[in-house]
Amino acid sequence: MRRCKRCLMPDSLPGSDFDSGGICAWCREGYPQYATKDEKALVNKFRGLGAHPGKADCLVGLSGGKDSTYALYRLVKHYHLKAEAFIYTHGGSRDFALQNAIRSCEILGVPYHIVSLPGGIHKKTFLNYFKAWLAHPDSTAAGMTCVACKHLHILGSQIAASRKIPYVVWSSTPLEYSPFLAIKHKGDAKHQFKREGMLRSSWQLAKKAFVSPVFTRAILRHPQTSILGCLAVFPNSSYLRFRYPAVHPLMFYSYEHWDPKLILDTITSELEWQIPSEIKEDWHTDCVFNVFKEYMFQKMYGVSYTDAHLSNQIRHGYISRAEAEQKLTESKRFYAESLLPALEFLGAEEIMSQIDLSCFDVEI
Ligand SMILES: [Zn+2]
Repeated sequence: MRRCKRCLMPDSLPGSDFDSGGICAWCREGYPQYATKDEKALVNKFRGLGAHPGKADCLVGLSGGKDSTYALYRLVKHYHLKAEAFIYTHGGSRDFALQNAIRSCEILGVPYHIVSLPGGIHKKTFLNYFKAWLAHPDSTAAGMTCVACKHLHILGSQIAASRKIPYVVWSSTPLEYSPFLAIKHKGDAKHQFKREGMLRSSWQLAKKAFVSPVFTRAILRHPQTSILGCLAVFPNSSYLRFRYPAVHPLMFYSYEHWDPKLILDTITSELEWQIPSEIKEDWHTDCVFNVFKEYMFQKMYGVSYTDAHLSNQIRHGYISRAEAEQKLTESKRFYAESLLPALEFLGAEEIMSQIDLSCFDVEI
């Protein structure tokens, strides 16, 4: 496996298309396109609301991670908006993330709603699809492990609709999108993100169900969670627009430039935001399911979300290749060590015998 000379993406990935100088296609095209609209565009958006009957101007999806915490901070303190927050908890939320989220709301005086799916369904769906992936590892099964999480788009829209709040704010950043996944960042002003078409996704699911009885069982055990999660895969999916026409999704980092250092400095000093000292990385570490996502892609492709996230940051000048190499090496170690505790956390230690940690021993 060769890695690109500019970023860290390997030539083993479909679409990497290295040139003769050892540079990947994503470096050549500058993936992902990321240009923010200015602050004025955001101000005008809210000014355009005028008087409205809503309980607040916006509802912020708050994970307790740094990006959504900063978005909430800015909307309240800089844009002087009336905000509410909603916090989606599931069987994989880390305590420290929840504490961060609640503390931030309290300091900012923001009312918050804690929501989750009933009956531990999120954890159950995850484990069933993860078992299906173990039986037949491919990207369809890996993608479906997160299907319950997509319900946060529905839950957020539901709260906003019932409280007549016009905007729901989401805080994923363009640099988080891996070029090898079904959802890519496109950077087009109208269509920020590009995902596989519904027909193609349904066909993938049908094919998968045909060859994998474990996968079929997972769908049949959780038909409603699976179907609605697929329909609500993205905050601006047609399903959500149809079901909640008065609620508009707003991607915060399409307006404000993502500046991780400024974000961390601000939220640690203003909102007492903190992560436990044993956790070295502040991206995605608030959710235990992420450990498995890193594992599944590492095992299938020898590369994972972190490789893509760091490579995106190299291309956009956030970090040097040498710094990224160091971070990537640490992340592989971190995820290899996190798998057993993650399974214990979910009460599924018996699966450990089917895990192959050697996939994390990669040369960087
Ligand atoms: Zn590259």
